[in-house]
Amino acid sequence: MPGPKLDPVASDLSLPGAVDVVIIGGGIVGVCTALELVERGLKVAICEKGEIGCEQSSRNWGWVRLTHRDLREMPLMVESVRLWKGLDARIEGDTGYRQCGVTFTCATDAALAEERIWLEHLKDYQIPAKLLTRDEALAQFDGLDLDIKGALYNPHDGRAEPQKAAPAIARAVQARGGTVHQNCAVRVVETDGGKISGVVTEQGRIACSKVLVAGGVWSRLFLGNLGIELPQLRTKSTVLATEPVPNGPEGTVKFKDFALRKRRDGGYTVASALPSKYQLTPDSFRLFSAFLPTLKNEWRNINLGIGPAFLDALRTRRHWGPKDRTPFEDTRVLDPAPDPAAIDKVFDIIKAAYPLFRNVGVAQRWAGYIDVLPDIIPVISPTEGVKNGLPGLFVATGFSGHGFGLGTGAGRLAADLITDHPPVVDPTPFRLHRFSDGSKITPLSGVTSR
Ligand SMILES: Cc1cc2nc3c(=O)[nH]c(=O)nc-3n(C[C@H](O)[C@H](O)[C@H](O)COP(=O)(O)OP(=O)(O)OC[C@H]3O[C@@H](n4cnc5c(N)ncnc54)[C@H](O)[C@@H]3O)c2cc1C
Repeated sequence: MPGPKLDPVASDLSLPGAVDVVIIGGGIVGVCTALELVERGLKVAICEKGEIGCEQSSRNWGWVRLTHRDLREMPLMVESVRLWKGLDARIEGDTGYRQCGVTFTCATDAALAEERIWLEHLKDYQIPAKLLTRDEALAQFDGLDLDIKGALYNPHDGRAEPQKAAPAIARAVQARGGTVHQNCAVRVVETDGGKISGVVTEQGRIACSKVLVAGGVWSRLFLGNLGIELPQLRTKSTVLATEPVPNGPEGTVKFKDFALRKRRDGGYTVASALPSKYQLTPDSFRLFSAFLPTLKNEWRNINLGIGPAFLDALRTRRHWGPKDRTPFEDTRVLDPAPDPAAIDKVFDIIKAAYPLFRNVGVAQRWAGYIDVLPDIIPVISPTEGVKNGLPGLFVATGFSGHGFGLGTGAGRLAADLITDHPPVVDPTPFRLHRFSDGSKITPLSGVTSR
């Protein structure tokens, strides 16, 4: 089952002999970091095992939202939205970004009370969100009939097009002298005298003194081969794209069961807010104690199961050398099978509540794996100081289902750390060594669960 159709990026013809920074992973985080670095005058190569944006960054809902964020991410998200707003003009490209507003409807009084708290959080950042009555909320979506008590509306939340954004940014990197190498898995990082001297890819070697691992769900495996521990798991999520809906609403709506947002092609991206299935893997057991606090918070939203993912992971090599074929070459694009029954059930709920959608067909279903860390916020960090960490080796990963919107700011912060600039926001919450220095790991600080 192929994933959503991506805007193509032409690979550069040959690998550069030497660059300042190699970026491992051409998702939104890798390309945004690369853009920042080339604009600062550095020579950069992006190595992507599949195509630019082929995994999480093209399979997501496309939300760029400030509301319902972990409070530790808020300063970075405010910076991210500022960057998204100017991005198309900056790159002379099309990411599809629009500040369309999101309406978070509330099925219960308790949910509405939680939104009041969120309104206060947003006010701290001068964001003009407001609470709506039931009628005011539903008036934005002509004919929609939901049993709700009211809603929180944030006009500063928005959307971008996941199949366009990373490719458009990658092309801007190339236009500024950076290079892009697809079907080019990085196998290992080489060192000389304790310092990074280059990377070995399946297409050859690139000399460099700095490397960013922005490998999405693969980051744990890649770092593990270097002896660096990253407590990262993955969870599958299915998405449905509808056929075009004439005169459909511009705004995005979230209900307790579903989320719905307009796409550039006139269709809608339908997402499920119902409990998801989590397939256990050997890492689920290895990382059980690290994820226990998250599990305690989230157990109502997760159905644990065991399936082929367990055996696949068991068969995956965890150690290799520069001459070995790696798991990254074996799985060019992680393209899990969608779960049609679950997503169709959600679409049926939408059709019953929203006459506009009653006769709308399904254009495509796809699934993606989301990479998750125990405290549900990313790592954007040097590795120096952690066991087997290296000077010059950086990580930006573990965006835990929120990284598309955060990608622009994450790229800026990662570039600040790589170039030793004053960081755009305090990077402390995102440090890698929080998992090994005895810090208390707290999931979802300030986020109200719904
Ligand atoms: C269904 C779904 C819905 C989501 N909805 C939203 C949303 O609405 N809003 C939001 O903000 N976020 C959302 N997310 C999360 C968001 O998509 C991710 O957090 C974000 O895309 C992560 O970007 P990334 O660059 O870190 O990872 P990825 O996009 O996964 O990119 C990592 C890349 O690294 C490559 N790679 C890995 N190892 C190697 C190697 N050794 N050599 C070369 N290449 C390598 C991979 O092929 C991959 O392309 C959603 C995710 C999913 C799956």
